[in-house]
Amino acid sequence: MIFSLQKTMDFTTSLRTHLKTVLLDEEQIAQRLDAMALQLTRDYRGKALCVVALMNGSYVFLADLLRRLDFPLEVESLRITSYDGTTSTGKVVMHQDRWPDLRGRHILLLDDILDTGCTLAAVRSRFEAEGTVESIRSCVLLQKRTERNRGVTVDMAAFDIPDLFVVGYGLDYRGMYRNLPVIGVLRDELI
Ligand code: 5GP
Ligand code: MG
Repeated sequence: MIFSLQKTMDFTTSLRTHLKTVLLDEEQIAQRLDAMALQLTRDYRGKALCVVALMNGSYVFLADLLRRLDFPLEVESLRITSYDGTTSTGKVVMHQDRWPDLRGRHILLLDDILDTGCTLAAVRSRFEAEGTVESIRSCVLLQKRTERNRGVTVDMAAFDIPDLFVVGYGLDYRGMYRNLPVIGVLRDELI
């Protein structure tokens, strides 16, 4: 994949110049995370919480949110994929050789974005089938306004965004742009 990109990508340019629009900047993200962390502290302080992050897309969100939660908690990550380039394949693949044993924990599933909802629904139903966790809630950074997420809802979303393919703050396009500190839409000629 890197090979096809190298033809069109100038590896010396600032990443921001690759965007045609910035939807959310650093300050907007930080402010919203402060508010969410307050809410989560109210909900979970004093409980056996395990934050379960879906990788790779959620790692920047995870790192920034975790450091705002000042009480004891556990963290697990699951590696899940469902996207090929800019479209959802609808098929959720779990690249997992060890499924965490979270008996008795309150689980907060963390993902970067709710699009079709397939990913979160699949993970949630697997924990529900085990029937050993205290509670499960889901939290996403971004929620797309789309008909595609057939009834799948999340308990908490930092931002609602239009139905566009976005990159940055952990979200990638073919493995790139995760290190962009803002969230935006790529210029057409780059896709
Ligand atoms: P879902 O299962 O809800 O369709 O998709 C969720 C996953 O698809 C996310 O965890 C994310 O990895 C990927 N995804 C969905 N929409 C976008 C998008 O606009 N940009 C990027 N980079 N990834 C997306
Ligand atoms: Mg993902």
